[in-house]
Amino acid sequence: MLRLYNTLTRKKDEFSPLKGNTVRMYSCGPTVYNYAHIGNLRTYVFMDLVRRALRYDGYKLKGVMNITDVGHLLSDSDDGEDKMVIASKRTQKTPQEIAEMYTTVFFEDLAKLNIGKPEIIVKATDHVSEMIVYVKELLDNGFAYETSDGIYFDIAKFPRYGMLSGANLTEQLAGARVGINSDKHSPADFALWKKAEPAHIMRWDSPWGDGYPGWHIECSVMSKKYLGETFDIHSGGVDHIPIHHENEIAQNEAISGKKSVNYWIHGEFMLVDGGKMSKSLGNTYTISDLEERGYAPLDFRYFCLNAHYRTKLNFTFAAMDAAKTSREKLLVQISKHKASTTTTPHTILDTYRQSFKQAIEDDVNVPLALGILHTAIKESKSIDIYKLACEFDEIFGLSLNDVQPYTESDNTSTYDIPEAVLELSRERTDAKNARNYQLADSIRAKISDMGYLIVDTKGGVTITPKAKP
Ligand code: AMP
Ligand code: ZN
Repeated sequence: MLRLYNTLTRKKDEFSPLKGNTVRMYSCGPTVYNYAHIGNLRTYVFMDLVRRALRYDGYKLKGVMNITDVGHLLSDSDDGEDKMVIASKRTQKTPQEIAEMYTTVFFEDLAKLNIGKPEIIVKATDHVSEMIVYVKELLDNGFAYETSDGIYFDIAKFPRYGMLSGANLTEQLAGARVGINSDKHSPADFALWKKAEPAHIMRWDSPWGDGYPGWHIECSVMSKKYLGETFDIHSGGVDHIPIHHENEIAQNEAISGKKSVNYWIHGEFMLVDGGKMSKSLGNTYTISDLEERGYAPLDFRYFCLNAHYRTKLNFTFAAMDAAKTSREKLLVQISKHKASTTTTPHTILDTYRQSFKQAIEDDVNVPLALGILHTAIKESKSIDIYKLACEFDEIFGLSLNDVQPYTESDNTSTYDIPEAVLELSRERTDAKNARNYQLADSIRAKISDMGYLIVDTKGGVTITPKAKP
């Protein structure tokens, strides 16, 4: 049985869905004001791994992911400009154009990383009228109040506030910045609705004049609409625990009086060179940045698979190089198994299967599962090991079944070719088998510089000395 670390209970809980065999899961999606960086994408790789683990255990999925295209302010304490508005000013495009552009690239990035798209994708701006109804309900029930600049949730009315992060109200208050808005009853109260300043470009008509929704209300409204008042899993990055998710719980449970989510799961952060990612440090890399530097998107996915989702993962280019090399070696081994006609006894395969399942069911321990794959491929070459790897790949998502069967790099020419050239030719074949065509081409160029011509033929590789100029 799958066990997931539940932030709410602070332990690994056995997973069982509330209704039948379908898991209802909500994942906080991107704020589409910029390209997703590799830290954001690590969180979506995590979401994908959990979804794959659920499917591996035979569950069906009803996953919802929101696209935040309004309301996410620069600061989590309800001040600063809307990130969409800032991007709009930066690029001279409308917020809608910005949202469309970055949403498209976001889904392209997910596809490159073999991250499956949740079943339902919803935009915040398509749900503003429902958000207004929800805010009104909170007001009518005494959980919110109006100030000169918006509608705020009154956390004093929700004594269980802080249950997810374990922070009590006193700590929460001590930590909260005294905002610009001094009308708030308490600094930790948060905005459900903001009244729009005259120049604010994103605005909707509401009972409180023109304005726009707070970021937290978006997730409460959309999760309830598509998954119901109580659903199974809610995922996001650890940074969301103390504010965004705490606020979602307060909004949801104030209205329903029920527990809203059974399993809260959070992915740890990605660091770069041991520190925070930030624009000013120029280290908020995107998948395209990595591609430009010669990495395949799946090198990055593989890099993520090597750390458990609840541990911090430090990105360095040296570590990325190691991940790239390791993935390429893995593909070569897999291609050799694929080329084999030998079989492996069922008992051996089942032992691997069992330990793999145990690893995945223990809080989606993918690094351990990857270790099991690496041990399995050391078995004598066999088509069964290839098939087993493909089975495991339902979790890893490394496109292992795309690998071509290995072809030996036999030099079929009759010339006497130096060993150094033959060695390079073998490396080139390995690179080709690993589909690293860039490396294969650079090795071909090196061989050419050494005075030899390399030609791929049906029977293998032919190396001939180049004609003297
Ligand atoms: P945002 O687009 O800012 O709403 O963030 C999208 C997702 O990325 C959220 O689930 C965040 O928790 C997550 N996230 C942001 N920064 C990082 C990071 N450095 N490492 C891992 N996840 C992150
Ligand atoms: Zn959210």
